[in-house]
Amino acid sequence: MIEVKISSNPTEKNCRCGNWFQHYKNFSFRQITGCVVAGCSKVDIVGTHVHKLDGLDLHSKPIDSTIYILPLCKEHSESKEVLNILPSTKFVIADIKKTCGEGFMTYVDSPVL
Ligand SMILES: [Zn+2]
Ligand SMILES: [Zn+2]
Repeated sequence: MIEVKISSNPTEKNCRCGNWFQHYKNFSFRQITGCVVAGCSKVDIVGTHVHKLDGLDLHSKPIDSTIYILPLCKEHSESKEVLNILPSTKFVIADIKKTCGEGFMTYVDSPVL
């Protein structure tokens, strides 16, 4: 299991994808069948900002400070607890500079003939 906590300070309200669930779908390239918390499979999904909890540094800060997006149900998206995420889950980076925001993904229009 991968342990995560909901990030209390989401970087942006919305990204270019429209909302964070769409962002997750755009960059995970997966079918989402439900909430990815182990034992949960509710379908009222919200794209949620999370931190991974794989170890803390000397100052009790998470070593991996990257913020990720996960598809969580409404209830879990507001949870303050540590959540166990299914191991097969794809983590999508919330940093729009590395995803939809700036230059990384460019959609090339098909040439007009
Ligand atoms: Zn996006
Ligand atoms: Zn859930």
